[in-house]
Amino acid sequence: MAETIFAKIIRKEIPAQIVFESDTVIAFKDINPQAPVHVLIIPKITEIESARDLDPGKHAKLLGELYDAANTIAKQLGVFESGFRLVLNSGADSGQEVPHIHIHLLGGRKMNWPPG
Ligand code: AMP
Repeated sequence: MAETIFAKIIRKEIPAQIVFESDTVIAFKDINPQAPVHVLIIPKITEIESARDLDPGKHAKLLGELYDAANTIAKQLGVFESGFRLVLNSGADSGQEVPHIHIHLLGGRKMNWPPG
């Protein structure tokens, strides 16, 4: 699998504004924010390119940790009560650019629906 920019962030080889880190998960501010709060939440393992690669037998605990981190970060950044959107792009038509599974946490403004 090709090396991604996120692998370099995990290894702290390039700078990122990290807002949360555990043994298994790291989250940092998106470099091109689409909302006042825009954080990317990713697993530290690099083998899951998109949600299409999730294996419930192998990744159920990790998925729980990713979504639990989202709640923690939403509280930390003050959008838990006002609400926020979690987006998980998977594959070309979704607009996924980085082949390392990541959850976008967007908040701090009213979101539109349907999404673009
Ligand atoms: P996606 O289109 O779902 O694959 O999202 C990839 C996201 O990664 C985009 O929102 C980019 O702005 C973001 N991104 C790319 N490089 C970096 C970086 N070095 N630091 C933070 N966010 C990044």
